[in-house]
This record gives sequence, C-alpha cells and structure tokens, in this order.
Amino acid sequence: MTATLLPVCRPLLPRAESLLPYLQQIDANRFYTNRGPLVWQFERRLADLLGADPHAVRSAASGTLALELGILAHAGRAESDRPLALVPSFTFAATAQAVERCGYTPVFVDVDPAHWTPGAAALAEHPALARCGLIVVVAPYGVMPEMRSLERLQADVDTPIVVDAAAGFEAVLDCPQLVSETIPMALSFHATKAFSTGEGGAVLWNALEGQARVTQVANFGFRASREALIPGLNGKMSEYHAAVGLAMLDGLDARRAAYAQVSALYAELAQARALGGRLHLPPGVSPAYALFEAATPEQFLLTESTLLAHGVETRRWYEAGVHAQPYFRRPRAAPLPATTDLCFRLLGVPMSPDLDRHDVARVLDALAAAAAEGAVTHG
Ligand SMILES: *Cc1c(COP(=O)(O)O)cnc(C)c1O
Repeated sequence: MTATLLPVCRPLLPRAESLLPYLQQIDANRFYTNRGPLVWQFERRLADLLGADPHAVRSAASGTLALELGILAHAGRAESDRPLALVPSFTFAATAQAVERCGYTPVFVDVDPAHWTPGAAALAEHPALARCGLIVVVAPYGVMPEMRSLERLQADVDTPIVVDAAAGFEAVLDCPQLVSETIPMALSFHATKAFSTGEGGAVLWNALEGQARVTQVANFGFRASREALIPGLNGKMSEYHAAVGLAMLDGLDARRAAYAQVSALYAELAQARALGGRLHLPPGVSPAYALFEAATPEQFLLTESTLLAHGVETRRWYEAGVHAQPYFRRPRAAPLPATTDLCFRLLGVPMSPDLDRHDVARVLDALAAAAAEGAVTHG
C-alpha cells in the first residue's frame, strides 16, 4: 500500500511561462474585461475549431453562468403561468441552481438508464409540462444528448430547451454538428473539466440574435446604451481567464493526446484484471472522468471503501442526484429510481492527463481487490 493518496482529479493548467505572452498583451492593451481583445481571440479560435460562425461561441465567467445566460437569453425569466422547469436530477447541483436563479422551480425528472438522459417522450408527456417555461437537458459526464431530437421536441411542445453540456467540450469538438441553431448549450471551463480557463464557460448556439441576447444578459442587460433593457447579470469572462484559455488552446492537441493515452492505459491494463464491473472511459465520457460501474449498490460501497484503503481517492460526482441534496429535497417528491440506481453504481476513479502506467495499475489493482472481496462476501 502506498502512503500518498492518488487524487481522483488533479487539474493541470497551462504553466506561467505559456501565459506570459498573453499577460503581456493585456498589459499593452490595458483592457481587463468587458469583452476585450483576448476574449474575442479566444471565442474566435473556439469557433474556428468547431468550423462554426464566429457568433456561435460566447464566453462566460463560469459554466453555471453560461447556463444562466442560455436560459435568460432563450427562455427568459420564469413567469407566473409557467413557473416550473423540467430538470434531470442526474447532474451536478449547479444545473438546478442556475434554473432556480432564473426564477424557475425545478421539477426533477428521471433518466432513461441506457442513455443517462430523459427520453424525449418522457419529457413530452410529463404531467407538469403545461406549467413549465423551460426544459433543461444535461450531458452527464459529457455524454451528449441527441440534439436533433431535442430540436424536434422543442418545436413540438413549444417550450424552450437549454442544454447543460458542462463537460461536453471534447464531444462537441469531435462532432461539431451538435451545435444547434435553436437550442443553446452551456459549457464549463472549470479547473476540474478537461479543457479549462480556471473558472469559465461558454454558450454554444448558432443563432446571431440569440447570442446577441446572451452577450446582453452577460453585461447587465445593456445593448447599445448603459440601460438595462432585459434581465441581466455580470457573466463576462475576464481577459485574464481568456489568456489561460488561449494558452490552453495552444496546447490542445498535446493535452488531448495525453488524455487519450491515459484512457488507453486504463483499457489495456483492465484486460488482465477481473474488475467485477465495467469502466466508462473517454471518449465515451468526457476526458475529465473515468467511471467504474458496479453491478450493484453493495458492490459500489465495497469498491469505494476498498479503493480508499488502497490509497485511491474516488468521487460520487453527482452525489445521490440533485433531488436528494438537502436544499432541493421535497418530502412528497416522486422517487427517481434510475437516477438513484446510477448514482449508487457509478463511481468516479482517478483521471488526470498525467497519470502514468503505475498510477493506472494501482487503481485497477484496487478495483480487482474490491471485486475479489465482493465475490467472497456474496459467495
Ligand atoms: C462542472 C459542471 C457545472 C458547473 O460548471 P462551473 O464552471 O463549475 O460553474 C454544471 N453542470 C455540470 C453537469 C457540470 O459538470
């Protein structure tokens, strides 16, 4: 057993040397925020990577704020005849917090266990839909929903849809057709995500007027004047964060290769070991994650404690679902069995771009030890 704990996530952002040229540009520009030249450059390079029009990418101060910007620009604030929003519970707390800050009361929906997302039919037939002014769909662990069917659903039910694709950046890079003309999508560039500006995010939406509203909401609701015309907030990315993003883009190919290497190590070294469950690895999930799917909740708990005893940190990234978080818990809320089941079978195991063979073997040995222990316990 090794003394040091192997962290479940150990962010690695661009080093000071690679930031310096961009920081010197900031010194020369004397432009520190309010959509300065580095933010324009950052958005432009992201749009180019996606082969999208420049307006399709708008940066934000965080992923949570990007989601709020998408909601306010597309659906507006909640109104009294439609005060609710359908929101999956199989996500990070921020999804429901953004919804609530836009005035909506979240109504948590379960997911289709095979796709980790609510089915279009389940959303269309939801009994609360008539009182909903918004539907949020999540890309859990960066697994993107079917955007074309969401576009059809949005038209059919005449209710705005916004996608929380916080960890979806790499999936969208690999499949730029995911960017929609009618549904805004929020990305997070938080340090725990695979592509990061420290704190930051973006709204992807190939809609010129829609993105003009995103920009307006992000700047206090101002358009051409200093008058608040629509609901607003300060959601802007600073030039300093854009500098980190630009340095990150300079190293993007190497970084993606590093994650692919770690993922390949997991796949290779898993073959020789009996894990008693399956691994979800990038690119099937975002490079920010490696997940172990235990067969049962009992095996999940045993795996969690065995890994800790082996010095391997794990994380329940979505805890027990947002509907189970103390603030969002409702005494008479309907149970969400698929969400609860996934939350108590999917365990985050270490993933970082610089894990080496030894680290990955250590995780897999601990998983194999947990599997062997489970086999003994359950005969
Ligand atoms: C990371 C994450 C967020 C929050 O993004 P921040 O940039 O930390 O605000 C929201 N939703 C999901 C699903 C996430 O994974």
